[in-house]
Amino acid sequence: MSSVSETARKTFLEAYGTEPAGLWAAPGRVNLIGEHTDYNDGFVLPFALPQRTVAAAGPATDGRWSVCSTLAPEPVVFGVTDPGDVTGWGAYVAGIVWALQDAGFEVPPARIALASDVPLGSGLSSSAALESAVLTALIDLGGLDVPPERRPAIAQRAENVYVGAPTGILDQSASIRCREGYALFLDCRSYQVEQIPFDLTGEGLAILVINSNAPHQHVDGEYGERRKSCEAAATALGVPALRDVSTAELPQALERLDDDVLRRRARHIVTENQRVLDTVSLLRSGRVREIGPLLTASHESMRDDFEITVDQVDVAVQASLDAGAYGARMTGGGFGGCVLALVNTDRADATAAAVAAAYQERGFTAPTSWVATAGPGAGRI
Ligand code: ADP
Ligand code: MG
Repeated sequence: MSSVSETARKTFLEAYGTEPAGLWAAPGRVNLIGEHTDYNDGFVLPFALPQRTVAAAGPATDGRWSVCSTLAPEPVVFGVTDPGDVTGWGAYVAGIVWALQDAGFEVPPARIALASDVPLGSGLSSSAALESAVLTALIDLGGLDVPPERRPAIAQRAENVYVGAPTGILDQSASIRCREGYALFLDCRSYQVEQIPFDLTGEGLAILVINSNAPHQHVDGEYGERRKSCEAAATALGVPALRDVSTAELPQALERLDDDVLRRRARHIVTENQRVLDTVSLLRSGRVREIGPLLTASHESMRDDFEITVDQVDVAVQASLDAGAYGARMTGGGFGGCVLALVNTDRADATAAAVAAAYQERGFTAPTSWVATAGPGAGRI
């Protein structure tokens, strides 16, 4: 049993004085490419991290829900709930109960204990890992018939409406629908998915994930502002979403927008969607190295057009490229978080060291780096 599962089990035992009925795990994720495209009805390509959140869970006899975490051992207890009742981290759990009920399901009262090795607030989606672990546990405990393709939207509604964070469908889809050894090509309009083989070891390649450890600042406000800009650009262009503008139509579309900020925001989304499609085509035909320039172009677009990067991530990308990476980009919503770099496996350590040296030179807090492989999605363990 992994140490995270064992910790979840022990935390449950200590909090509730009995063994859990089972353990359910859901992973954090890295988005290979396709940033801020999800809420524009576009395309994303995440894979699941081996790091995950484990929910130890069992039935409750008092008709209520209790949840604790290694980070907050005193259980949060709530009954039938509406947005606003539970605040703080417990809102992610109460939100899942509420969203499942709101979707018409009879949610079993339960006791839950959480443990996780997904870094919090680093753009690897510890929030979706938590939601997805709890959702999967409650569905299994209650024997609820919720098909996998419906689950991400339920978890997203918990985060959007109950927690109040206006995130897209990417994170929950990744945590729930990813498969080991595959990246998940998701159409965020139709929710159609295609599993894209993503096992790089045979190619002598690796994805190095570099946590910039930069403090997140103004994330929620900036995120909301980007969403509004994208909606405003789509409205001005008379399309339901920026997904409906192709790269061929882009020059003409840009001429029709009279605001430079909107033009740049729209250009990022339209070109980013195309980069996802191009990345998927290359991966389908096994041309993995060739996705490098697309990753780097994605970063430049986030830096210059979407303006969501910070010095630490720009430096990590540049240092990775200087150390010989095929491509590198920030991953996640931005304003800090992580960078991923496509490197030869035998260059992973040297690339991590090069980034660390660049950080030291500038007086940044040291980064944390590791090689990430595509792990499994949410499920019972
Ligand atoms: P990210 O999803 O990028 O890690 P978020 O800000 O979206 O960052 O979510 C982080 C929040 O999720 C934490 O502040 C906390 O409220 C909650 N959270 C995530 N994992 C846990 C956990 N294991 N125990 C308690 N709360 C957690
Ligand atoms: Mg999150």
